[in-house]
Amino acid sequence: MEIISCPKCQNTKIVKSGIINEKQRYLCKNCNYFFTVNKVGKKIDDYYVTKALQLYLEGLSYREIERIIGVSHVSISNWIKSFNIKKPINSNYHPTYKILNHSELIEYIKNKETLSGAGMIITELGDKFMLIKWERFKK
Ligand SMILES: [Zn+2]
Repeated sequence: MEIISCPKCQNTKIVKSGIINEKQRYLCKNCNYFFTVNKVGKKIDDYYVTKALQLYLEGLSYREIERIIGVSHVSISNWIKSFNIKKPINSNYHPTYKILNHSELIEYIKNKETLSGAGMIITELGDKFMLIKWERFKK
């Protein structure tokens, strides 16, 4: 799955348009903007698409998701659009997340206090685990 979008208008109607300085050049059919991308043909695993959509639904911003999974926020924004994902509006809580390895994760959930007053999900992320916690009852 290869996703390239126009850096100017985020449209995905992109055609190849020659190679400049060993980089593939593209033309956006929507706004006629020429651009190159550094990593041509970078394959994005469906795994990361799913993670991005999950994180988005959990209330994380595109930039936060970009930091976690290392995919540009522009791609993430396109996935959200192409899957037509709508996130429920929720202003009562904001999720926080931690990236932990297995032993850190065990240490973390050992402590009952870290689990009370909040919901959380644990999801695998590469060779680590991500723990998303909702600070529902806090401002
Ligand atoms: Zn464009």
